[in-house]
Amino acid sequence: MARVVLVEDDIEIRRLVAEALAGQGHDVDSAAAALEGLELAVKGKPDLVVMDLGLPDLDGTELLRMIRAVSEVPIIVITARGADEVVVKTLDSGADDYLVKPFSVAQLEARVRALLRRGSAATSDETIQVGGLRIDPAAREASLAGKDLDLSPKEFDLLRVLAERAGEVVSKRALMAEVWREPYGGAERTVDVHLSWLRNKLGETAQEPRYLRTVHGVGVKLVDPNG
Ligand code: CA
Repeated sequence: MARVVLVEDDIEIRRLVAEALAGQGHDVDSAAAALEGLELAVKGKPDLVVMDLGLPDLDGTELLRMIRAVSEVPIIVITARGADEVVVKTLDSGADDYLVKPFSVAQLEARVRALLRRGSAATSDETIQVGGLRIDPAAREASLAGKDLDLSPKEFDLLRVLAERAGEVVSKRALMAEVWREPYGGAERTVDVHLSWLRNKLGETAQEPRYLRTVHGVGVKLVDPNG
């Protein structure tokens, strides 16, 4: 069973899709407009988003980019616009898959299954190792060079999010969204403060970084200092 957020303003299609997904055993939250959908997609931590492109308050590609800015959730776009350029723009904006209306319920179900399979593989509880840093998401434990780190819950989440994307720059906005669940800016200062605490516990400083590298104006990345 997965949590699915459905954003569709057409009441008939919304009902059809919601019933199909519920029939597969999923828990469906529906929204009829983009901003309402954005809130559900961010706060509800869904496993999948199914969304229409033609929405009353915002263009669907805008909604897609807004969700993508703060979340890696798999997204299926359903659209009446099947033109190549629309499909390309949709995928470029961060959609994982799309369906052109009219579509069959069987096709929707197959695509949902495929994306959920991919998603569950990506968010496993497997131990993450980056250099001497070892993070066990299931036990919520972390160690550096074999010594346990005494981290607060937020410090642990911050480290885990960065370690899952080791080598990649993660923006402070994305960190606000994933660790603090505040996608709309929030206080970036909060991220800075926790990063400095985390640095301290890893035995490094901003001036002499090892694992935590700040990329000014972009964000922060976790790297293997010996890699
Ligand atoms: Ca529509």
